[in-house]
Amino acid sequence: MGELLHGLAVSPGFAAGPLYRVAPRPGLPAPTSITPEQVQSEVDKAHAALASVATELRRRATAAKARAIADILIAQALMADDPSLYAAVTDKIRAGYTAPHAIHEALAAYREAFLAGGDYLAERVADLDDVRDRAVAATLGQPMPGIPEPGHPYVLAARDLAPADTAGLDPTVVLALVTEEGGPTSHTAIVARSLGIPAVVRCVGVLGIEAAATVAVDGTTGEVRVNPDAALVVDLRAKEELRRIRLAGSHGPGRTADGHAVALLANIGSASDLTGEGGAGAEGVGLFRTELLYLDRATSPGLAEQVAAYRAVFDAAAGRPVVVRTLDAGADKPLSFLRQAEEPNPALGIRGLRLGFQQPEVLHTQLVAIATAARDSGANVRVMAPMVATPAEAQLFATRCRVAGLSTVGVMVEVPSAALRASALLNEVDFLSIGTNDLSQYTFAADRMCGALAELLDPWQPALLSLIAACGEAGRAAGKPVGVCGEAASDATLAPVLVGLGVTSLSMSPRAIPAVREALAGVTLDECRRRARAALDATDALGARAATAP
Ligand code: PEP
Ligand code: MG
Repeated sequence: MGELLHGLAVSPGFAAGPLYRVAPRPGLPAPTSITPEQVQSEVDKAHAALASVATELRRRATAAKARAIADILIAQALMADDPSLYAAVTDKIRAGYTAPHAIHEALAAYREAFLAGGDYLAERVADLDDVRDRAVAATLGQPMPGIPEPGHPYVLAARDLAPADTAGLDPTVVLALVTEEGGPTSHTAIVARSLGIPAVVRCVGVLGIEAAATVAVDGTTGEVRVNPDAALVVDLRAKEELRRIRLAGSHGPGRTADGHAVALLANIGSASDLTGEGGAGAEGVGLFRTELLYLDRATSPGLAEQVAAYRAVFDAAAGRPVVVRTLDAGADKPLSFLRQAEEPNPALGIRGLRLGFQQPEVLHTQLVAIATAARDSGANVRVMAPMVATPAEAQLFATRCRVAGLSTVGVMVEVPSAALRASALLNEVDFLSIGTNDLSQYTFAADRMCGALAELLDPWQPALLSLIAACGEAGRAAGKPVGVCGEAASDATLAPVLVGLGVTSLSMSPRAIPAVREALAGVTLDECRRRARAALDATDALGARAATAP
């Protein structure tokens, strides 16, 4: 049996398969000029690279399940095939450029033209850049950049994954994710949970594993075994099958053994998350991350476009309540159409609601779109703001919402100042939703993307639990709901503790709901409170886990 690596388990389940890495964008070699005798061979090399890129893109388009993805791939193949691009590349080579530089230069001119060509073309620039990177890599004999496409299921390894990398991940092809960096609240962890893909982050050494070597990934223990024994693979596959069967049989609303109701809600980025696996079991949507719809946009989505997107979600909710979060842009979720100025510390800068106040027309358009879609669909819609720091911000946000026609308004608790003043916030709004991912980051001054700080970002940290307790207490006093919608809500062993702290709903990746439902059904409310007190009394996360063990 081969080497055993350890990381942090962030998405449960087991998978085994060949491992492939995300390849970086190709670096251009230092420019050299070519002699007239080399012109033809460089032209042949560049043209062959463009042709091979177009062929590969067409192959992927044929294999793509989603029509929208196939259309994008075909459009990219047409870019790579464009006779005028061949001519431009030839001209550059005749002017003395090598094949990779000629491709780079020729496509730079197209890039400018696309950017100048208005909304639709400007949004295709990323696709054009991808064609360029692929063609340059082909001329240099390097692997294709980005998510690998080996043509069969595999385990994906990366340093960490950006939202753009993960947008098109297909869970039937990507068996598991293993990253060298990242933490329990990193984007990789969130996406893995939402797709139901086993994942291990902060797994030092994974990038050193030879390409195509078989690995067995355990997303429950954090173990990654290189070249596992066949017997181990069979054993773990059987365990995984049993786990899936048991959880598939779980249904109904969330409640403790003695009947205390705890709504189990879904975190979603679009309507398909609600109609996909696990979505049907959610009692509603506790967090609709609207910014995820617009990550790749160069221009602002207009009112009608937003109304249609929100309407699709409200229709998919089919009468269940939906909490829409206004755009949470900035820091780990930049939206290029907002054209934010560079900041030395984006996570501490103009992000979330602060950006909504700085660009009030963007916030207003979104609120009107949500209100319009809610009215048209008759859905039970609530709205909340990210990154609220003071009661004054909560009041201003609530006013803007009510002006736009939205009556049930909440705010997220993601900054310690908000938790410490939870009662004052509840004087302004109807509910609180605790974003534990950011609340951990800001409480411990630990970047949520930084794998090395994962221990500080552990949701079992007693200091984080104290802030959640303060919110729960404020909610109880005000008679208003206090939910958790950060990744902590999907930790089935933490769920009873959160309920004991006074949390009234838990919102998570839909696929995490069955395990949380099962955990709550096994404890009484008194037991939840006992565990909450024990966790608060602990001195560290490890102690909190140990003190609450049943
Ligand atoms: C959070 O911060 O916990 C949260 C739910 O928001 P996001 O992860 O989208 O920042
Ligand atoms: Mg957040």
